[in-house]
Amino acid sequence: MPKSKLERGNVRVSTVSDEQYRSREASHSEHRTRYEAKAYSASSATSPLAGTTIPRRELTDQDVQIEILFCGICHSDLHYARDEWHDVMPTVYPCVPGHEIVGRVRNVGSAVTRFKAGDVVGVGCLVDSDGTCPNCEAGLEQFCPKQVLTYGSPDKHGTAPVTYGGYSDSIVVDQRFILRVPSNLDPAAAAPLLCAGITTYSPLRHWGVTKGKKVGIVGLGGLGHMGVKFARAFGAHVVVFTTSPSKKEDALRLGAHEVVLSRNLDEMKKHAGSFDFILDAVAAEHDINLYINLLARDGNITMVGAPEKPLPVAVFGLIFGRRSFSGSPIGGIPETQEMLDFCGEHNITADVEVIPIQKVNEAYERMVKSDVKYRFSIDMASLKSE
Ligand SMILES: [Zn+2]
Ligand SMILES: [Zn+2]
Repeated sequence: MPKSKLERGNVRVSTVSDEQYRSREASHSEHRTRYEAKAYSASSATSPLAGTTIPRRELTDQDVQIEILFCGICHSDLHYARDEWHDVMPTVYPCVPGHEIVGRVRNVGSAVTRFKAGDVVGVGCLVDSDGTCPNCEAGLEQFCPKQVLTYGSPDKHGTAPVTYGGYSDSIVVDQRFILRVPSNLDPAAAAPLLCAGITTYSPLRHWGVTKGKKVGIVGLGGLGHMGVKFARAFGAHVVVFTTSPSKKEDALRLGAHEVVLSRNLDEMKKHAGSFDFILDAVAAEHDINLYINLLARDGNITMVGAPEKPLPVAVFGLIFGRRSFSGSPIGGIPETQEMLDFCGEHNITADVEVIPIQKVNEAYERMVKSDVKYRFSIDMASLKSE
């Protein structure tokens, strides 16, 4: 990762020493006090999500308690609730998904200085890490081997067997993993920035997308539509690839300069060897070589969608043109803050359909059919009536 990337983050979260980490661990393990929060959980891979109560820890000195206002629905939520990632991350039931959280600070621990009651804040996919490994030192907590995911990771505080996510009325998170949400952004539409936003912002930044670059976005869903908005805001020439002609108008509205129907091979060929960067947000099986051949010399294509089966890559396409093929997960805490600040300055949010929590199962079914423009955001006030 280039050094400049680290210096760009305007909130550099301080890391802790080994000793501080051990003493924090010790105080955590002694800390057993908890309270009941309302939530929606799944009790098995086949049962729908339903109202329940879950334990949350009382504040430690480093913690921030957040009243959750909105939580976006990510595809990962559905995969996790249905145990579809069993081989890599078997689901522990009951499970509470949700890692696109925006809320208001209700209370802070005695050592918390950066946040106060009333602040509008966000929590993304991570709620903890060791703070001491080279990745954490570099502000790249998404690569920390000891990272704690917002839901489904072993709960080192011992409050519950695993961490519980944002389909809930409140959450308690270490201050190092809390983000500031600019006050001009609609909180419902800002929630998806915490996963879909950073997942697309980070690779666009890493691969140097700026004014004058030609950028392709493959797939116009929750991730893709954010990719279009960011690439356009960075000043690039943006081309959207889609299989559905019906999405053309929307792609242009979201900021694309051109839309290419990827099934039209003649149209594809016109762009051969011309892209500096392509962001591929398609999780279904597709021919990656078609896109590799559209890259210019030293061009890169990065996957943020994760197809279930391996993709065959024709290596000649990489060799000629010294092109590269990569993947990228979310982003670290400093970069996530940088992304939120950028969104505040440029007034960027996700396009959302706001739903009450009671419609979450229906929303999952619609998400499977890509029947959402472009992200569901759950209004957590609806949980009060449960
Ligand atoms: Zn996600
Ligand atoms: Zn680490």
